[in-house]
Amino acid sequence: MAATRKPVVEVRRSQRRRRTVSAYRDGERVVVLIPDQFSRAEETEWVDKMLARLAAREQRLSRSDAELQARSQRLIGQYLAEYARTAQPASVRWVTNQNGRWGSCTPADRSIRISHRIQEMPDWVIDYVLLHELAHLVVPSHNARFWALVGRYDKTERARGYLEGVAASTGLVLAD
Ligand SMILES: [Zn+2]
Repeated sequence: MAATRKPVVEVRRSQRRRRTVSAYRDGERVVVLIPDQFSRAEETEWVDKMLARLAAREQRLSRSDAELQARSQRLIGQYLAEYARTAQPASVRWVTNQNGRWGSCTPADRSIRISHRIQEMPDWVIDYVLLHELAHLVVPSHNARFWALVGRYDKTERARGYLEGVAASTGLVLAD
């Protein structure tokens, strides 16, 4: 986020607000609504907090299908370079109708679908899920050769643990 300019902030104090703080973008400005009773220190703290939240939200929303496609190309170049042709998906997209899986791949038409459930997860987790599906274009089943390909990514184990943790805490039963 280093390239992002700090936006002009307009703080509006409201007597009706007691504890809630909200923020929204209005053109070039960011309007932050805070309770009237907040001290200067609280105001500064909350403005920083809301700017960070807004930036994070905007960054997550920028995770479009096009971004997923660009991410695929980067992952293929980094981890599946010698399979650059085989690992090339015909389509990669975010889907909301995938309840039992983080991602899926149909080798027959070379399409990859990634669940919107991971859209807000860290980049290194999305990289794992996507690389997993790209590797299925090379090796369809979960055999040793498949795991050797996926294991080229050094955060594979960590990402699998992260996803298992999320699945356990939300009561989801998820397949690979
Ligand atoms: Zn799989």
